[in-house]
Amino acid sequence: MCTACGLPIRVDYALTPDTLPRASLRGRIASLWRYREVLPLAAGEVSLGEGMTPLLQLDERTWIKDEAQNPTGSFKARGMTVAVSMARALGAKSLMAPSAGNAAGALAAYGAAGKLSVLVAMPDDTPRIFVDECRHYGADVKLVPGTIADAGKWLREHGASLGFGDAFDVSTLKEPYRVEGKKTMAYELHEQLDGELPDVIVYPTGGGTGLVGMWKAFGEMRALGWPMPRVPRLVSVQAVGCQPVVKAFVAGATKTEAFVNPMTRAWGLRVPSPIGGFLCLRAIRETHGTAVAVDEASIAPAAAWLASATGIDVCPEGGAAWAAVEELRASGWITPDARVVVFNTGTGIKYR
Ligand SMILES: *Cc1c(COP(=O)(O)O)cnc(C)c1O
Repeated sequence: MCTACGLPIRVDYALTPDTLPRASLRGRIASLWRYREVLPLAAGEVSLGEGMTPLLQLDERTWIKDEAQNPTGSFKARGMTVAVSMARALGAKSLMAPSAGNAAGALAAYGAAGKLSVLVAMPDDTPRIFVDECRHYGADVKLVPGTIADAGKWLREHGASLGFGDAFDVSTLKEPYRVEGKKTMAYELHEQLDGELPDVIVYPTGGGTGLVGMWKAFGEMRALGWPMPRVPRLVSVQAVGCQPVVKAFVAGATKTEAFVNPMTRAWGLRVPSPIGGFLCLRAIRETHGTAVAVDEASIAPAAAWLASATGIDVCPEGGAAWAAVEELRASGWITPDARVVVFNTGTGIKYR
């Protein structure tokens, strides 16, 4: 984050068709570090084999990108491998972040892998398993009343007194590298679909790093000269109980407003005031996408149906995305011929 203006910082590269010809990817490591020319480091200093997750085909027009198969069971691993590698390269000795769940587990694991100490703050109603997971990897965990926003505030006020005064702050979009890791989802789609990006990408949105990252990647792939017959329309999915991006989108606003009393069991979506909300809105509008809030009551059944129909370990956030696909197909926004990629962003096991 820029300390003068408070806005997120973006990493850019000088890209030409010679930077990363698609053919040069053949035979490279099967992790997101295969895209090293468009990452801030030439190699993952702290890597657990993240990325290159399966793209599972459901029917002729529908694919699930299964992010549950990342280390620590969610796509938070993508952001953390890049952020923690950079933090270490920049000389950090410790790391901290607030989290609604999966980011904390991933941070704890990558901190352990990189031999950096980790402090995380989480809402005190976060399921116990997320807390246990962090401690399993040796992190310090603090439970704070309220939401992830309150957890972030607590870290800023108390981190120093716990010896984390110089810690690298890995909070969503406070540093520019988690987006760099998450954008690789779009590069993988390009490779896995052999250049035919889908018409629609449906993405459950919390802080929005994935949405913003993929949007950034579309622009980069174009600069790299990769074939791009269409830019996918980005669909941001939230829960009715916490829908700052959807509300702002529907209202035609350019920024999100803090969502009061956020409530959803899809913990990854419980981000009431995303600092990159304005970027999510730009990404959605520029790609002619949309934003949808699904009923809390439809999330668990959608996840259960998808899991039992496919064998994929679907999390509530993935269930929300699936519920949105059904709604958008029913309303005709997704046309019968449209090819759709739906993100299952994490494992369902941690939510029981
Ligand atoms: C963090 C998280 C999200 C939201 O991701 P953003 O990129 O921050 O919007 C969605 N699903 C799961 C499982 C998550 O852990």
